[in-house]
Amino acid sequence: MEQLKKRILKEGKIRGTNEILKVDSFLNHQMDVAFLDELGAAFKARFADCQVDRILTIEASGIAIACSAAKAFGNPPVVFAKKNKTKNIAGDVYISQVESFTQGKRPYNIFVSKDFLHPGEKVLIIDDFLANGSALHALIEIVHQAGSEVAGAGVVVEKAFQPGGSLLRNEGVRVEALARIQSMSEETGVVFCD
Ligand code: 5GP
Repeated sequence: MEQLKKRILKEGKIRGTNEILKVDSFLNHQMDVAFLDELGAAFKARFADCQVDRILTIEASGIAIACSAAKAFGNPPVVFAKKNKTKNIAGDVYISQVESFTQGKRPYNIFVSKDFLHPGEKVLIIDDFLANGSALHALIEIVHQAGSEVAGAGVVVEKAFQPGGSLLRNEGVRVEALARIQSMSEETGVVFCD
């Protein structure tokens, strides 16, 4: 998505060589809602042929993107996996573990109430970044626990120098990334795959 690439080049902040890209000015902290709606429409274009009964994401950064995507898909319910099992989650939950990429690599559990995923449904998974694939794998695991089917996984940015995208595609998951980064460093800037 050309507009996304332009914004990454203009506003992205690179931390380390092939480590972290910060896009806090429009996606991860301050949010450009009109632009998020464009990202949502881009996901709809990529998954135009897919039945999507529900969208699943992970708090916090995935939520706004998933909501914009939902608008483009005709407003299926959006469910977000929680990182803490608070009292707000009543009853039984599906649980899966994420090896955190950004939070000091300490693994943490994510939770989704059994009330909000149902057998037989097609679930589109949405997230902001794809790096090693742990977050998406954990969400896929939860979809499977619920007896639902993964329609696909849409990410705004895939860091293609990390293995997550290849791992998932090799497992047969349809992964669509709106921008794919081949490499990045403070010296070279961001280099996209295509
Ligand atoms: P993975 O589980 O694929 O290794 O990492 C994906 C998760 O880590 C995403 O949910 C995202 O929040 C976070 N993440 C990974 N890499 C980056 C990055 O370069 N920038 C930002 N902002 N988040 C990242």
